[in-house]
Amino acid sequence: MSQQESATLTFLGAVGTVTGSKFLVEHGGRRVLVDCGIYQGDREWRRRNWDPFPVPPADIDDVILTHCHLDHSGYLPALVRDGFAGPIWMTEGTAALTAIVLRDSAHLNERDAEFAQAGGWSKHEVPLPLYREVDAEKAITQFRTIAYDAPTELGGGVGVTLVRAGHVLGAASALVTAGAARVLFSGDLGRTTHPMLRPRSAPPAARTVVMESTYGDRTHPRVEGRPHAALAASIRRTVERGGSVLVPAFAVDRTELVLKALSEMRRRGELPVVPVFVDSPMALAALDVYRRSSLRGELRDDVSPELVDLPTLKTARTAEESMALNNPRVPCVVISASGMASGGRVVHHLRHMLPDRRNTVVLTGYQAVGTRGRALLDGATELKMHGQYVPVRAEIVTDEEFSVHADGDELVAWLREMPEPPETVYVAHGEQGSTEALAARIRKELDVTAVVPRLGERVRLR
Ligand SMILES: [Zn+2]
Ligand SMILES: [Zn+2]
Repeated sequence: MSQQESATLTFLGAVGTVTGSKFLVEHGGRRVLVDCGIYQGDREWRRRNWDPFPVPPADIDDVILTHCHLDHSGYLPALVRDGFAGPIWMTEGTAALTAIVLRDSAHLNERDAEFAQAGGWSKHEVPLPLYREVDAEKAITQFRTIAYDAPTELGGGVGVTLVRAGHVLGAASALVTAGAARVLFSGDLGRTTHPMLRPRSAPPAARTVVMESTYGDRTHPRVEGRPHAALAASIRRTVERGGSVLVPAFAVDRTELVLKALSEMRRRGELPVVPVFVDSPMALAALDVYRRSSLRGELRDDVSPELVDLPTLKTARTAEESMALNNPRVPCVVISASGMASGGRVVHHLRHMLPDRRNTVVLTGYQAVGTRGRALLDGATELKMHGQYVPVRAEIVTDEEFSVHADGDELVAWLREMPEPPETVYVAHGEQGSTEALAARIRKELDVTAVVPRLGERVRLR
């Protein structure tokens, strides 16, 4: 095979960190980008969202999206604005959720830029959004959906097959074929115990694997006894002392899981009768997607199509309704995005609720380094919001049962399920410790070459 015909893979993101997934496959002049995420968390990483894209976007032929999360999809509006005009391939569920996520992201970007300008604390002379709502709308017109397990030719000898990943609705691993080369991108892998979604499929054969390692060094605690018992107890405790519970939750998937858990607690008589507010228009839109009949195939057979059964459920759609929740007159549960408290409406709730000892904040998932959620998890005594410090007096509770990421054992099990062992596994999408730990396990337990790539590194695919 000549140099020109052989395929290459370049690691453009999610290397040394969880966020910013971007992988470029090149074959015979065709360029396919797998995932197009933004960096979140630490300012050092977020700054890179403003770097020029390493390849001219107009020279990319296709984008393949594994799932809707911003760390996989959030750069798409910028890529499209800067010249990418090709199709963006994904499952139907991912298309529905990504449209919601990108519209919200663009809106927040524009609003935060205005807010920073008004407040005068931006580092830029005139604060700019990373992209605008028109850019998101344009990107959405380029979405093309494909079914799970249906091999699709992209042209130029490159093809893709999406395989169920069980992480959030629509999530897939992507098998990319480029000439004779086969490379499997895990995307984010779910747990086999997701309470609503069908579990992941077995991975197909591939010589090369690029895999996530978010929880590569961890084992999720086994749930013994009643699910979410700690959460139920913390809600009861908080309501008894006259406080309210704030649950920062990712709008997509996590809010649905929290509502389902609360519904089940109510049915078991474990939940005090208090109002439950969903303060996130995006979460409400995502809930509608989870209830969409054309996507019923995404859900487990034993899940009721209604998903949620909470008579005290209330929703806050407007900013005024949201503001009214800052000083609730009666104890209540407020679920609001974003899940790592890095932005969104949850920030103003934190500002009002953290200083009161009666309140509780429940963290429900992965908290990236540099986010307010991580600071709370690590025991911060003050938190900076909108340029001011606020004391942390509220109780902080973590409910790890909500995790939708496979742990170390589950990641290794996924590799073991491949029809034949791969030659090389590139381990990405993790903080350094968990990536190194997973790579070491893969070498030791599977006797497979496991590599932690460098940012910008390019390798040849066989
Ligand atoms: Zn994800
Ligand atoms: Zn991810």
